Amino acid sequence: MRDARHDLLFEPVQIGPVTAKNRFYQVPHCTGMGWLRPKMAAALRGMKAEGGWGVVCTEWCSIHPASDDLPYPNAALWNEDHIRDHALMTEAVHSHGALAGVELWFGGASSANHYTRETAIDVASIPNLAGHPYQPRAMGKSDIRELRRWHREAALRAKEADFDIVYVYATHGYLLSHFLSAQTNLRTDEYGGSMENRTRLLRELIEDTKDAVGDRCAVAVRYSVGGDDGEAQSLTQERRDRLEMLAELPDLWDININNYYQEMGVSRFIKEGSLEEHMSFVKSVTTKPVVTVGRFTSPDTMASQIKRGVVDFIGAARPSIADPFLPKKIEEGRPEDIRECIGCNICYTGDGLGTPIRCTQNPTMGEEWRRGWHPELIAKKHSDASVLVIGAGPAGLEAARALGQRGYQVMLAEATRELGGRVTRESSLPGLGEWRRVRDYRLGQIEQMPNVEIFRESELSVDEVLSVGAGHVVIATGATWRADGFGRSHPFPFKALVPSTNILTPDDIMAGRMPDGPTVVYDDDSFYMGGVIAEKLRRANLPVVLVTPENTVSAWCKYTSEQYQVQKGLLELGVEIKTAHSLLAYDGREVMISCTHTEHQQSIKADALIMVTARQPNDGLYHALQQRFESEEQSLLHSLRRIGDCDAPAIIAAAVYSGHRYARELDAKPDPNMRCRVE
Ligand code: ADP
Ligand code: SF4
Repeated sequence: MRDARHDLLFEPVQIGPVTAKNRFYQVPHCTGMGWLRPKMAAALRGMKAEGGWGVVCTEWCSIHPASDDLPYPNAALWNEDHIRDHALMTEAVHSHGALAGVELWFGGASSANHYTRETAIDVASIPNLAGHPYQPRAMGKSDIRELRRWHREAALRAKEADFDIVYVYATHGYLLSHFLSAQTNLRTDEYGGSMENRTRLLRELIEDTKDAVGDRCAVAVRYSVGGDDGEAQSLTQERRDRLEMLAELPDLWDININNYYQEMGVSRFIKEGSLEEHMSFVKSVTTKPVVTVGRFTSPDTMASQIKRGVVDFIGAARPSIADPFLPKKIEEGRPEDIRECIGCNICYTGDGLGTPIRCTQNPTMGEEWRRGWHPELIAKKHSDASVLVIGAGPAGLEAARALGQRGYQVMLAEATRELGGRVTRESSLPGLGEWRRVRDYRLGQIEQMPNVEIFRESELSVDEVLSVGAGHVVIATGATWRADGFGRSHPFPFKALVPSTNILTPDDIMAGRMPDGPTVVYDDDSFYMGGVIAEKLRRANLPVVLVTPENTVSAWCKYTSEQYQVQKGLLELGVEIKTAHSLLAYDGREVMISCTHTEHQQSIKADALIMVTARQPNDGLYHALQQRFESEEQSLLHSLRRIGDCDAPAIIAAAVYSGHRYARELDAKPDPNMRCRVE
């Protein structure tokens, strides 16, 4: 039974004409699916409802072809086909007793309309906010009338698709936020000038939507209360004044802030409940229900938010991605089973890449329809064979956990005393502490499984593996950072490196082998590792120069929406940054680099060079076993496989997925149609 302190999370809450069964509210979040992949999206949202979320929303949903966001895959409600697509979702959501919400959206200057080639429109002809060489047309009166008609018609289509909550989306740098802002709205007609005038369009859209669908659907407004670094006090005050002015007009306020880096910040920089400071006044000025986010994973924190009157609903995007069954687990009094989000923002990368969502903690995320994977359920074992998993990093731990759940007899052997592999090592780096949750969730589950045995300090050789006599062997021995300079911009080892103990890798730093003088970090990997290592060394008071062939530091971090914070943080710490430079040579005293554009060379005095370039799979054991496997007349094993970084070094999410997939597919027939199911 659940903890009585969490009872209030399960109270029903009325939102205008509809009632949510509890206070768990999946706010709109992107999935990389949108109108391109409606079946995948419907199954994903349905899974959230099955997991107990009282409200489940779409992603940003375009009201008209004059607002298309491709290559970011937005949802759309432009026509009859889209109504049918969304009906798949609402049906899936309703079948579990949840409410379905749709976030009607018009991008304005943020959309270049690459797909539809319609001219974008906005309050003024301001530059495209995604950096494209397009500007929207400044809206005339007829454009405003058209926009209102489009919004109304989309709301009616939403009702036809059976949504219960229809949003008016007034934040995140889209059209309505430009009308509201005194900085971008310099109009001299009745839609510009005073705060009342600048709010006119928002008010009209709320009223239009209520008039069109308010008899059966609740009308929600997504609204920002500020949060921009350095925003003038008068502007923040105006946001509050406007909220007070409109307080009772919509049926629900979905509150957020302008600063995406905080609102959906990575755990490296932002912790649970970070929006609370901006929320303090909201409930005091409206009687309508209020929701906000905060990467909440602790039921105690959630209950405290409700008890203290900060919000009425616990809003979540990422916690619902990492664990669609989070509400059910709290309801059933087993919060220790929650797969807590680690705040890595891998789920957000699908948006920027235009590909379906994935999650580090939840390998089934995005695979609900395509592979038919369920986050909590898995087929029972198909044989009595035992499985030996070698290596307890994220791939090995997930394989052991999921195999254990299937009922197999599992032996998990790990060379070291510590379990968790790279996750344990990397979580000791600055800001990455929450990444431990990848290990802790899996160990917590395995501890409850009598059929999974863990053997620590067991570095297995070929003969030892064979002597175990397991039916199946799976190798998850990870990968090692290379010290020879081989990498993306230099795909062969360096000749001009004097072999030296002064050349280190992230593995050395994580093992505590720190340099003791001026250091160059050479980042040819371009995700988080180079920046984190530079930060660690700088925090140890070493003079640090970070060199990267890319034009920005930690360039791939733009997809996890943290690149700006990484570069800002390193500059503020005093790390010297040399972008667009590649490594030429190091003799133990001087690092030679050259500009990637001009080939101009320069040298940097350094006692140590840290190579963050590429990783080498630790696949020696796999190959040695395979040789024996192939040479023996009688098969010693049913199967031998490698998974995770030992197979192909990649992100942690890929290792977890690989371990999970191995476990799902053991003794199972592969579905030949799966690869085509990409709708
Ligand atoms: P992945 O990300 O693929 O899970 P990791 O590098 O995180 O890989 O983890 C690999 C784990 O395998 C490490 O904890 C390492 O100590 C362990 N390991 C490597 N070789 C052996 C071996 N021969 N026997 C047992 N464990 C091993
Ligand atoms: Fe959380 Fe990372 Fe999963 Fe996103 S990918 S939900 S941030 S664990």
